[in-house]
Amino acid sequence: MDLRHWLGRATDAIQDWADTFGPYQPHASLDVDDERFGAAFEELTGRLKDNYPFFHPRYAGQMLKPPHPAAVVGHLTAMLINPNNHALDGGPATAAMEREAVARLAAMFGYDTHLGHLTTSGTIANLEALFVARELQPGRGIAYSADAHYTHGRMCHVLGMRGRPVRTDSRGRMDPEALEDILRTGEIGTVVLTTGTTGLGAVDPVHEILPLAERHGVRVHIDAAYGGFFTLLAGADGPEGLPPEPWRAIARCDSVVVDPHKHGLQPYGCGAVLFRDPAVGRFYLHDSPYTYFTSSELHLGEISLECSRAGAAAAALWLTFRLLPPTPEGLGQVLAAGRRAALNWAELIAASAHLELYQPPELDIVSYFPLVEPATLSGIDAASARILSDGMTGPDPVFLSTFRAGREAFALRHPKVAADADATRILRSVLMKPESEDAVEQLHARVEQLSLS
Ligand SMILES: *Cc1c(COP(=O)(O)O)cnc(C)c1O
Repeated sequence: MDLRHWLGRATDAIQDWADTFGPYQPHASLDVDDERFGAAFEELTGRLKDNYPFFHPRYAGQMLKPPHPAAVVGHLTAMLINPNNHALDGGPATAAMEREAVARLAAMFGYDTHLGHLTTSGTIANLEALFVARELQPGRGIAYSADAHYTHGRMCHVLGMRGRPVRTDSRGRMDPEALEDILRTGEIGTVVLTTGTTGLGAVDPVHEILPLAERHGVRVHIDAAYGGFFTLLAGADGPEGLPPEPWRAIARCDSVVVDPHKHGLQPYGCGAVLFRDPAVGRFYLHDSPYTYFTSSELHLGEISLECSRAGAAAAALWLTFRLLPPTPEGLGQVLAAGRRAALNWAELIAASAHLELYQPPELDIVSYFPLVEPATLSGIDAASARILSDGMTGPDPVFLSTFRAGREAFALRHPKVAADADATRILRSVLMKPESEDAVEQLHARVEQLSLS
């Protein structure tokens, strides 16, 4: 699709609608002439060049990529009206789109009932899930894996709850035995499982832990902020298919968070939280002297902790899902390409005399490190940092990221490397663009070359 064409159509369509309300004069205080605007705009576009090329296959670093053009057009079109999805008074159309998009997410996870909404981020979405956890299990804490996102420990502090990290295994997944030891104390009310850790893409064994949690009367929340859309590859044919058990088990968990602004092709400002039991809406109950007057129907602001939220984010997600729905045949194909890219690169690294896999990729994150002589953590750390920096600055650039691996975690995977430091940086590449699939050989050759220089 031609972005310039559709952005023009967007302004026309909204102008046509605006015209139906009759002419009016924009106020002189808002006037900006084209010449002044032009100068400021030049400065803006000039300054934006100080960026990394997230769109390009050369960029194989952090979890970053531009939104799909459909999301851009959806967002900008709605933004010309600027609805606020806090209340139906703020924009009935985008509130309805939010409900529809959230229902698609609920269906993707196999929820037969749900209460949910979009949020500004995965952080806020997880905060809401932990808030509800606290209300349902007062006085009891939260357990999450040692490799879970740092937000869980932080938000436990914000909510005044006790947070307990749980040991992970040699692939970065929560160890069910270690969890059970903690559950036996009776201190824990909710366990957070991560399906796709932010660092390595490890998937906690939801299907093994769920029965254990049920036995101890503990709730289960799934943090699928990064990994959620990979459920579309559960049980798929072909190399990209994922073991279905943990993904299918999400349908029986109490709540789940997913970030459409990570793997759902959206611009930032789009997370989501879903609860399986709609009755948890009671914990959000409040009255507002300013809003909620156009409808007795539930307003989204009555089931979220945030107030103002961009209706444009809902429009963008809704439009994207109309074209690339969260199904195996739709968005699933986008994730499949990234997953195959990760598998292919991992194979090249495994066969390399200069690089070694830190662990096999479970989703689309490849973790690896340069082989150094003698093999020490400090040597690996220095070489990884050098490759990261030389890769970005040299000709034929490649953009990677680093991951900090602690001494024990590293030893679990590579016991022969001398642990002469508390931790080491290794290299990490998130292959979240489907275009990465065609770039893997080039990326690999470049990183190998950098490891030699
Ligand atoms: C990204 C991420 C978060 C935080 O979400 P934001 O959208 O960055 O606020 C939480 N948990 C996991 C697993 C994540 O990958």
